[in-house]
Amino acid sequence: MNNIEFDKQHIWHPYTSATQPLPCYEVTGAKGVELTLASGEVLVDGMSSWWAAIHGYNHPTINAAAHQQIEAFSHVMFGGITHQPAIDVCKTLLDMVPDGLARVFLADSGSVSVEVAIKMAIQYWACQGRSEKCRIVSPRNGYHGDTFAAMSVCDPVNGMHSLFENVLSKQLFAPAPQTRFDHTFSEDDILPLEELFENHHHEIAALILEPIVQGAGGMRMYHPEYLKRCRQLCNTYDVLLICDEIATGFGRTGKLFACEHAGISPDIMCLGKAITGGYMTLAATLCTEDVAQGVCQGEPGVFMHGPTYMGNPLACAVANASLSLINQNQWQTQVPAIEKQLQTELAKCADLPSVADVRVLGAIGVVETYTPVNVAEIQRHFVKSGVWIRPFGKLVYIMPPYVINASQLSRLTDAIYSYLSR
Ligand code: PMP
Repeated sequence: MNNIEFDKQHIWHPYTSATQPLPCYEVTGAKGVELTLASGEVLVDGMSSWWAAIHGYNHPTINAAAHQQIEAFSHVMFGGITHQPAIDVCKTLLDMVPDGLARVFLADSGSVSVEVAIKMAIQYWACQGRSEKCRIVSPRNGYHGDTFAAMSVCDPVNGMHSLFENVLSKQLFAPAPQTRFDHTFSEDDILPLEELFENHHHEIAALILEPIVQGAGGMRMYHPEYLKRCRQLCNTYDVLLICDEIATGFGRTGKLFACEHAGISPDIMCLGKAITGGYMTLAATLCTEDVAQGVCQGEPGVFMHGPTYMGNPLACAVANASLSLINQNQWQTQVPAIEKQLQTELAKCADLPSVADVRVLGAIGVVETYTPVNVAEIQRHFVKSGVWIRPFGKLVYIMPPYVINASQLSRLTDAIYSYLSR
């Protein structure tokens, strides 16, 4: 049985049927912005492996850091032990994030960091004798991961809440913000959330949202004023603000963190994906000193969470290399250049009859169609065109590695246009 056949018969892939799987492509190498397939084709990567590989693949600096750490030690338990790679990554993160965040919980994936954030928020209020404050509010069209607490705050329709109705926590949802990033803010965006807070604040622990860009729940880019007003409402009604920057963090939207578009700072922040430059899984939940003090006061006095691979030294060493590359600040010229080129080159898609909308922010380009695309067919077209783009539903979108050059980026935008204009 060849690899593709074995894969088809035995291996689950993300969001795919096991019995009627979509075609799968075998990758044998990746370097810079290119993926090499077993069939010999070389593809320009438009996805950064889902927001993560911002520096490109097989980066010498990150490779060296991984090798060096393997020679020292790859893993050691974090219970009762600490080490330089974890200390360095936490120090660096605290220097980078918005003011006020003071404590770092190292988690093993984005979803787990969201679980940790939600647990922190609930425990914070419980430890202050306010255990009725245990529900989470989220705007619709959100996406926060696939584990149960994370799923409970994803968009109820996209997140298929009806399937899991009997087991999912019942959270509260506000309408998704409608004002686009660069339009004039409409008060109508915030009024429903205000009303929800007014009526339910006594039972709300936290508001969780993806700042500025809602990713997997619709690739929507909303107005910074909405985020500002969310921060104000949280202050007024004693609700913690959790910003999930797992996708938006580390420069993707044109700011180091998307929160900065609104000049706000959350009580709890989730980071992941690009933290290791797409090398391996690591995430972090950061919180303020007030949240940490609140969580650990009274009984039980500890935060009951501690994954086996917490603070994995190899992942931390790789993250330190990735963060040092980010802190060289080349993203500050790369991301605006990508944004400008995406704006120019994707604009012509807006005139196509199948296209409902085109939007760009930072190094994110989205073409939304009226009807869902045929993923298997569009993927074949893209591979034939020498690019790797993985659409879902009505969204053909790209978020390439920051190191992509202008002609590689044109390959991506040309492939999108040529498919949609066929
Ligand atoms: N939050 C957001 C905003 C995400 O985009 C994702 C991943 N797509 C997650 C959480 C979950 O992260 P992970 O897949 O690492 O569990």
